[in-house]
Amino acid sequence: MTREEWEAICDKCGKCCYEKVDLGCGEIRYTDEPCQHLDTRTGLCKIYENRHEIEPDCISLTEELVRTLHWLPEGCAYVRYIRFQDTVAAIRAAERKRQRGRPARRNR
Ligand code: SF4
Ligand code: SF4
Repeated sequence: MTREEWEAICDKCGKCCYEKVDLGCGEIRYTDEPCQHLDTRTGLCKIYENRHEIEPDCISLTEELVRTLHWLPEGCAYVRYIRFQDTVAAIRAAERKRQRGRPARRNR
């Protein structure tokens, strides 16, 4: 998948661009405070192309990060995408296992 294809998955809801507080024990909670660069009307970042220079803490999501970060919003399109991919992979694995367990057909 190209970077453009990966980025196209994001539905640009802006929900991940709100400040978060670390409550300890691995629990991160969102506040009502948007990042200063978030246009809350459109949900878009006003500095997207240069965000890493301007806000070094702003991260670029990757598949690995989506799998490991536990603070992405529940409805995040990347979270839904990864869950869908995992579900498809699990169904395929179960199907392969079922086919391996099926007795070979006898030729007459
Ligand atoms: S810099 Fe832009 S992408 Fe990063 S958190 Fe702020 S609004 Fe979101
Ligand atoms: S929560 Fe997910 S879908 Fe919404 S803007 Fe953030 S990365 Fe994109």
